[in-house]
Amino acid sequence: MTHDLQDTPFLPFSQPSIDEATIAAVGDVLRSGWITSGPKVRAFEEQLSAYFGGRPVLTFNSGTCTMEIALRVAGIGPGDEVITTPISWPATANVILAVGATPVFADIDPVTRNIDLDLLEAAITPRTRALIPVHLSGLPVDMDRLYDIAKRHGLRVLEDAAQAFGSRWHGRRVGAFGDLVSFSFQANKNLTTGEGGCLVLNDAQEAALAAKYRLQGVTRSGVDGIDVDVLGGKYNMSDIMAAIGLGQFANIEAVTAHRRALARHYFAQFGDGFEAATGAQLPVADFENSNWHLFQIVLPDRGPGTRADFMEALARLRIGTGFHYAAIHLFSLYRERGFSEGMFPVAERVGRLTVTLPMFYAMTTADVERVAAAVKTVLAAPGTPR
Ligand SMILES: *Cc1c(COP(=O)(O)O)cnc(C)c1O
Repeated sequence: MTHDLQDTPFLPFSQPSIDEATIAAVGDVLRSGWITSGPKVRAFEEQLSAYFGGRPVLTFNSGTCTMEIALRVAGIGPGDEVITTPISWPATANVILAVGATPVFADIDPVTRNIDLDLLEAAITPRTRALIPVHLSGLPVDMDRLYDIAKRHGLRVLEDAAQAFGSRWHGRRVGAFGDLVSFSFQANKNLTTGEGGCLVLNDAQEAALAAKYRLQGVTRSGVDGIDVDVLGGKYNMSDIMAAIGLGQFANIEAVTAHRRALARHYFAQFGDGFEAATGAQLPVADFENSNWHLFQIVLPDRGPGTRADFMEALARLRIGTGFHYAAIHLFSLYRERGFSEGMFPVAERVGRLTVTLPMFYAMTTADVERVAAAVKTVLAAPGTPR
């Protein structure tokens, strides 16, 4: 390790950007005397609804509970099968178990790393009730095909758009069309409220049901002006969080544009011969639809330790990386339910070899150049994955 490298600031793979106006707005909420759900949440939901073409939008305190409530609104429960991808954050499959339904996986497409829609369609049975596609790294699944399949088989769709705020499908915003669409505002996401999420729904009736699940099942229709008629929980967003969200939302177009520019720069830096020379796989070069939530490469397989060695080598060069994600069906909870190695070979390979490179709003093109050079050096070094 050279001395100058130790002086190089560590570049994380992700980092939130909160501007001073947002910090001031949070201070105003804290001083206002009203810090839980109130005017800021209502304003945030109104702005989100307008952004999604007037569809109803409710906010929640995590992306995970947003998805669980969406499944409850769709009436998914015991006896129902829900098809999803094995390459996602565990939340995507866990919420299926949480409502008592049965998760069914379909392997991923090796190029997009999103769920393979042919395999998804082949996995449909008479018990299938819903589909949960994930727009991984912000790259949407083929929405035309997805909704065609859902329509032909009479299935509900819950888009896990946790990573896809600002993504588009050929000009239309993800969330502005389709069935139920869930977003996460967790700290690393393109738009954050610290923790949080929102759900885009079809109509006022669905929104009213989701609002009940959000707060203890309380409805205003009872004899004393209040009743509880479904088992809800405590999932509401606070005005403190919504103030962060309003500040983030004001900047979302610039965030998406900057991430796209950084992604373009990554491709320019890696150059055309990169995949052939290294055996590594770049993401799909999509600058129309993806919001570039993550910039992920798949390493050439050099046996056990391939990814850990690569991540360590980059960390020594003061560069942070992550991996998103390990294949869900190989976790103990899912093995106990009958899943095992070999069932979804593409997901298993990608789950072992995918690496997330730095990508966030405050990053510069010089940072991209440093990362690309380091990746090339490490992949070329003997003892590391090629
Ligand atoms: C972040 C994320 C979630 C969960 O969101 P939380 O807000 O952390 O609960 C679900 N699915 C995917 C794909 C995610 O990236």
